[in-house]
Amino acid sequence: MSAARIPFVDLAPQIALLQPELEAAFRRVLAHGRFILGPECRDFERAFAAACGTRFCAGASNGTAALHAALHAVGVRRGDEVITTPHTFIATAEAIRHCGARPVFADVDPDTMLLDPKSVASAITPRTRAIVPVHLYGCPADLGTFAALSKRTGIPLIADAAQCHGATYRGRPVDDFSLAASWSFFPGKNLGAFGDAGAVTTNDEALAKAVSIYTNHGRDTKYLHRVDGTNYRFDTLQAALLLVKLPHLAAWTRARQHLAARYRALLDTPDFRELGVRLQALPEGAESVHHLMVVRIPHREEVAHRLAAQGIECGIHYPVPLHLQPALAHLGGHEGMFPHAEAAAAEVLSLPLYPEMPEDRVEIVCNELKSTLQSLATASAK
Ligand SMILES: *Cc1c(COP(=O)(O)O)cnc(C)c1O
Repeated sequence: MSAARIPFVDLAPQIALLQPELEAAFRRVLAHGRFILGPECRDFERAFAAACGTRFCAGASNGTAALHAALHAVGVRRGDEVITTPHTFIATAEAIRHCGARPVFADVDPDTMLLDPKSVASAITPRTRAIVPVHLYGCPADLGTFAALSKRTGIPLIADAAQCHGATYRGRPVDDFSLAASWSFFPGKNLGAFGDAGAVTTNDEALAKAVSIYTNHGRDTKYLHRVDGTNYRFDTLQAALLLVKLPHLAAWTRARQHLAARYRALLDTPDFRELGVRLQALPEGAESVHHLMVVRIPHREEVAHRLAAQGIECGIHYPVPLHLQPALAHLGGHEGMFPHAEAAAAEVLSLPLYPEMPEDRVEIVCNELKSTLQSLATASAK
């Protein structure tokens, strides 16, 4: 029996740390009253672009809206195809569907669990209008190869960066390798708002402008709606609160990386390998910001169940690959179609990780994981 409950994430420490500043920011917005596209929206867009090492940022109402707006801005429309990974959150496919386009899945790399450029290359057709790699778990996809593929084919790369705030590839911002990236500030993400929020970053000024116009009813002045649009606006209150948190992101990322390194040191050992534990391999040149600490294990459901009984909360990201989701059945997906994504979905378990997690809990979790796997291995050998 482990002593204390170990939560999967805990948002309370960051709120406690920043409470006075958050309240002051909240009061400033109440006082000026510009709740829609107020001055904090511009300020955050500028600050987040700088933090990402990108020239432009356009805020949006959430990460799904941001990806949809970015795809719309590069011209994805009805009848087009967009290639992405089946091993992701469903929002990636929803954003493609919202453009009227067809999500075309390609398998992941068996070791990194990230979209595999080779399987993407073989899924390209004359209708392919964009490629959407997902920087899953905080780890950039194989961006060097994707950038070369995009250059060779002329097909734009729009990255789903919802899980990788601050990640780098070959020491450079991930935005240097794709035309645009979409971000989510869902509360549990590495940079989380206090409600829904999202953004698109890009070095392309026209694209940023197109996203801003699309997300604000297609207008560039109050009464002139030049293009098709919708309401995906960035919320002033969220922007004001995110501005308080952003300066801490780099330190929070270092704390995540420190805890993840501790996890990896404990788990990447003969004992755990013998029990069938595997870690996410990181593509050459990719530096992960460890949104999640994911292990691949046998008996996943039973292990998660037993750890929960010991007070250790885990997550599963994600148990059903998108080509097997009922909501996307019309795409004609079937079992066996993407064996590497299906294997990942069956084996992944996300262990507790958040920047303020006391380091000794890493050891408690790993010890409990080991004894659980040992008892299951003994049971199945009988
Ligand atoms: C969180 C997430 C999204 C969606 O973000 P929302 O802000 O919840 O709309 C999209 N893609 C991935 C990979 C995510 O993790």
